[in-house]
Amino acid sequence: MVSVPVYKNVKLFINGAWADAADGRTLPVLNPATGEILGTVAHAGRADLDRALDAAQAGFAAWRKVPALERSKVMRKAAALLRERAEDIARTMTMEQGKPFAEAKGEVLSGGDVIEWFAEEGRRAYGRVIPGRAEGALQYTLKEPVGPVAAFTPWNFPVNQAVRKVSAALAAGCSVILKAPEETPGSPAGLIQAFADAGVPAGVVNLVYGNPAEISSYLIPHPVIRKVSFTGSTAVGKQLAAMAGLHMKRATMELGGHAPAFVFDDADIGTASKMMATLKFRNAGQVCVSPTRFLVQRKVFDAFVDGFSTVAKSLKVGDGLDPQSNMGPLANGRRLDALDALIADAVEHGATVRTGGKRIGNKGNFFEPTILTGLSRDARIMNEEPFGPVALMVPFDSVEEGMAEANRLPYGLAAYAFTRSTVTASAVTTGIESGMISFNGAALGLPEVPFGGIKDSGYGSEGGLEALEAYLNVKMVAQPGL
Ligand code: NAD
Repeated sequence: MVSVPVYKNVKLFINGAWADAADGRTLPVLNPATGEILGTVAHAGRADLDRALDAAQAGFAAWRKVPALERSKVMRKAAALLRERAEDIARTMTMEQGKPFAEAKGEVLSGGDVIEWFAEEGRRAYGRVIPGRAEGALQYTLKEPVGPVAAFTPWNFPVNQAVRKVSAALAAGCSVILKAPEETPGSPAGLIQAFADAGVPAGVVNLVYGNPAEISSYLIPHPVIRKVSFTGSTAVGKQLAAMAGLHMKRATMELGGHAPAFVFDDADIGTASKMMATLKFRNAGQVCVSPTRFLVQRKVFDAFVDGFSTVAKSLKVGDGLDPQSNMGPLANGRRLDALDALIADAVEHGATVRTGGKRIGNKGNFFEPTILTGLSRDARIMNEEPFGPVALMVPFDSVEEGMAEANRLPYGLAAYAFTRSTVTASAVTTGIESGMISFNGAALGLPEVPFGGIKDSGYGSEGGLEALEAYLNVKMVAQPGL
């Protein structure tokens, strides 16, 4: 076992200081591996949110004036501090979220990469000069920070989801109120501490927890907030996007997915099955870009499912602090109930449970790595995001048939394809309705590339220069000629 630290009760971070909620309210934080209460997180009320709004307004006025080079230096220091503290923050994350310690540590370390990339990209928030119509006429654009941001992040990647939004905002010169997940509050608090210790001025980064609906319905319409960024389910994203639209707030929505993964009969099936099974069960499948519908060409269906099952059966499911564990518990009890219901419904619709399918034990939220075959398109799980360790194996014959299944759902976040044919790869690239497609591997999510979906999976990007643009206004300046 990795040494178990004491879980610290988590406070709000407002105007440069950690504080309890004004009315003293707290929520319990549970360990999903044991069901035990780890500690508490402060529950913000209206008075706390008002303080955060005042701080974010003043913080923005100050931070926007800090030159991009200086902002970049502070952010680089935050990246270094985050890396230094990676083990502590990762232990906290494993205790509150459940994922294996190695995955948690990787997430925190890659958070450092995200901060550094945005720190650099903020120095390149270039405008452009547009040729004028008269001699000496100047017309050009300036990029300016959009203003205080309300950012809402979920529990599946407590640091990664937060660091993308906070880093892009800070690099652009915005201030932020981050509403981080109540279920996994300690690790994002470690991230915010790194920014504070690196010298981000008071008020520029604020962190709150509480009742998500109360907080979003207060912050999004509030005149101080100029930009909204949300990562979470499609259902909640649609509500928040509607609210943002009603109040004319810029918005980025990173929502659910139901990723298709094509396996064509010319692919290296051994590599495809190992890579896809490893990716499927990462973070117990609680990943928005998790491959979910494995669309496998009929000739190689059995070989792929066999290879995939071998990996699934070899996984050791256990407490994420145990170095032997490859898969931790589900992050909360809601996922257990949701998976039980989805699998029962699939079986009622004729599916076969090839492996797994059940909860493990009755302590902690452990669930077996699961593979279903013989699925009906009418089963709920073929239409709703399972957000758990369940792989759906679906055979197809022609490329057209596979593509029709891939694009059947309203989601459009990530897709994967394994093939050696450039012709097939071109057909998939042009035909797939998704924001991201990865061939013969799982190369999604690096800081420098766009990360986001289309259709019901949302809009905007959480990576690449597009992510910075989301926090910038364009101002056109015209000066007459001679
Ligand atoms: P949920 O829909 O209640 O919550 C999803 C996230 O949104 C949580 O972080 C929650 O705190 C937040 N949220 C909920 N209502 C909100 C509101 N009114 N205002 C602001 N934030 C709000 O569901 P859940 O049980 O936490 O997760 C279930 C589903 O959410 C999953 O099946 C998955 O589809 C989706 N999800 C997606 C991601 C992602 O990375 N895109 C992450 C977590 C959850």
